[in-house]
Amino acid sequence: MEKIKSQIIDSVRLILVATVCILCFVAGAAYTKVDLWMTMRYAPPIKIHPVTPPTANEQKTLKATEKTTPTELASLTPSLPLGKMKTTPAPERSEPSTDEWHTVRMRVTAYCPCPKCCGQYADGITACGHVIQPGDTFVAADKRYAFGTELIVPGYTHGQVVKVLDRGGAIKGDRIDVFFHFHQEALEWGVQYLDVKIHNK
Ligand SMILES: [Zn+2]
Repeated sequence: MEKIKSQIIDSVRLILVATVCILCFVAGAAYTKVDLWMTMRYAPPIKIHPVTPPTANEQKTLKATEKTTPTELASLTPSLPLGKMKTTPAPERSEPSTDEWHTVRMRVTAYCPCPKCCGQYADGITACGHVIQPGDTFVAADKRYAFGTELIVPGYTHGQVVKVLDRGGAIKGDRIDVFFHFHQEALEWGVQYLDVKIHNK
């Protein structure tokens, strides 16, 4: 009876051990399977970066970056002292610059060398002793403007620079007389109020 009891106990123990072994195996297998499944399901997908040529936009960006690089370098380089910097001269303008000329609104009349215009001084020599030449263009002005002062009178000699070479009895203050060779031209000029440019001495 004792022998049978021990045999049953041995059998049960064997079965238990076997069961535990099977369970362990199954559990292990299951764990491995679940682990694999979990890995496959939740692992982040492997990103493969294909080596493709840059698109047009990317190329533009690259070029822009290349272009900005020298500027950045230039800004980083210490600037030259002001005294050593080369200043580009201002381009020459056809219009006289404002610091060399000033403008005065003037009453501009005209005259010719005839006795009607010049009376007793109709000798072909101006107040400064200038002998009138064919094609001469000049003006008579107040003595505040020295002989030789350069003026630009709109509408007279196509805006070219003319000099003060004469005086006139009625030419006082902001008045000038523009010279013409013929009396008719002087009459046609009439009386004009113009912005006369005067060269600063
Ligand atoms: Zn005249």
